[in-house]
Amino acid sequence: MFKANDNYLKLPGSYLFSTVARKQREYVAAHPDCNIIRLSIGDVTQPLAPAIIEALHKAVDEMAVAETFRGYAPDLGYDFLRSAIVENDYKARGVDIATDEVFVSDGAKSDSANIQEIFAADSKIAVCDPVYPVYVDSNVMAGRTGTYDSTTGLWSDVIYMPCSAANKFAPELPKETPDIIYLCFPNNPTGATVKKEKLQEFVDYANKVGAVIVYDAAYEAYISEDDVPHSIYECDGAKTCAIELKSFSKNAGFTGTRLGYVIVPKELKDAEGTSLNALWARRHGTKFNGAPYIVQRAGEAVYSEAGKAQTREQIAYYMNNAKVISEGLKAAGYTVSGGVNAPYIWLKTPEGMTSWEFFDYLLDKANVVGTPGSGFGPSGEGYFRLTAFGTYESTVEAIERIKKL
Ligand code: PLP
Repeated sequence: MFKANDNYLKLPGSYLFSTVARKQREYVAAHPDCNIIRLSIGDVTQPLAPAIIEALHKAVDEMAVAETFRGYAPDLGYDFLRSAIVENDYKARGVDIATDEVFVSDGAKSDSANIQEIFAADSKIAVCDPVYPVYVDSNVMAGRTGTYDSTTGLWSDVIYMPCSAANKFAPELPKETPDIIYLCFPNNPTGATVKKEKLQEFVDYANKVGAVIVYDAAYEAYISEDDVPHSIYECDGAKTCAIELKSFSKNAGFTGTRLGYVIVPKELKDAEGTSLNALWARRHGTKFNGAPYIVQRAGEAVYSEAGKAQTREQIAYYMNNAKVISEGLKAAGYTVSGGVNAPYIWLKTPEGMTSWEFFDYLLDKANVVGTPGSGFGPSGEGYFRLTAFGTYESTVEAIERIKKL
């Protein structure tokens, strides 16, 4: 008789956002007249920008004509998009990345979950706590995380780097030596960022101990402060120790359109000199058949002058929401961080409530859905995440309701 993969059976409960959605559904079923405002999942609400829509239409029309029809896309991405990425996301910032170091994908969720496949099965991972749940869960599926302690919420073989108010939600270097360090800045869920010197410390450490950093920069476009790095490759020596993940979801509204990329520098080699660039290319070749042509053309349009201006406007719209949330909550007496370089606001739950108690309280008393901080890791207990991705009107309404509690 066949057997399921035991590692999957170790995963505690369902995925965080599935639990949030289920609880919301149950509440609505019991209170059919309620008017729910969702500031929970980090999904955009603004439609795709006109320049992107125009590129999509044009690419669709090309698919209808024999001369311009495209079949399978190149598995690593079309050159037009890889070149636009290199020029705009790297060269424009003084960072030298080659087009064959760019791997176009269907988004950063799958990349952040899949990248662990190219490392040895017994690799030790270090993660920030709290953190985007995909990093730990994908390593649980790969059998790397040891046993789960349901009391502490910790895995025995994972190195945690707690991020709390005491360290301004910026991690200290890991206490034990890891093989893979996951970093995400601007951070989901705390909205925190690190300055360049702090990131340089991690790069120097990784090079010294022979670790690799998986740097998730999905929210890079939200950085508003000057001394916050947009890419880990702004740090000296990062090409020998870091892989960078990027997404078109949050900077350009591609959550439903799907596009992302990974940078794996050619200088990045393991202890035996094996090139990770070659391994990731091999993996892509076997397991991925390329992002759709029409979507890659849409991605290219994000870098056009009109695309840049229009997506900048959308980001400003969401960041105005972040300000509304942040200032409103502060006026209501909450302790709040994030929301300056990220579309996430991280608040301390009032009166010692647990994260899930506050979730239920907010849902019931204000009909506002947020995300419990404890769902992102044990250090998130007693915190709560609200997103700025709603419409302006619903954001204002949600904050008015919270102020009245
Ligand atoms: N990385 C982080 C930190 C995220 O918060 C998210 C989505 O919320 C993703 C990756 C997923 O991005 P994508 O839509 O490109 O899969």
